[in-house]
Amino acid sequence: YAEISLKDIDQVAKSSFPLCMRHLFDKLKEDHHLKHGGRMQLGLFLKGVGLNLDDALAFWRAEFSKKVGLEKFEKEYSYNIRHNYGKEGKRTDYTPYSCSKVISSTPGAGDHHGCPYRHFSEENLRAALSRMGVNSRAMEDVMDKVRNRHYQLACTLTFEALHGVQCDAGINHPNQYFSDSQKILQ
Ligand code: SF4
Repeated sequence: YAEISLKDIDQVAKSSFPLCMRHLFDKLKEDHHLKHGGRMQLGLFLKGVGLNLDDALAFWRAEFSKKVGLEKFEKEYSYNIRHNYGKEGKRTDYTPYSCSKVISSTPGAGDHHGCPYRHFSEENLRAALSRMGVNSRAMEDVMDKVRNRHYQLACTLTFEALHGVQCDAGINHPNQYFSDSQKILQ
């Protein structure tokens, strides 16, 4: 994995996060909160892209403290972040979720985790892709894959449209999307 630091995170979120993580990132900044499924999906992804534990704590603290306050963040949320980094509990080193795990998740009301290609309505997906910068021609190819339930191929076409290159291996992991993107952009 490549490494990122906290100061670069807004920029790399725009340039190199796949839509599933970009959506969680934007919602966290907007609501200053994410439910458990979203914290796990985004938190482990960020660990995978190389955000260290101190930066991860600072990142989540900055947002959550705006909503629930600093004290509640430290009491109720920081444990889980350290846990994800294997610093609490059984000290398991949790690994970031693959596409198949994200796609097979079942987000409920108020959840923002999952794979947008699978879990968004067509209208919301089109709007999100257009905000990302996918042009209308590529959009129709992406939507065609979505209709045939080829979600990872839809994500691969998005990657290709945004980076202007072929991605022959296809997208099978959000962290692979990130590292392939960084390789092209750096
Ligand atoms: Fe994320 Fe994978 Fe879905 Fe792309 S296909 S949005 S990387 S879960």
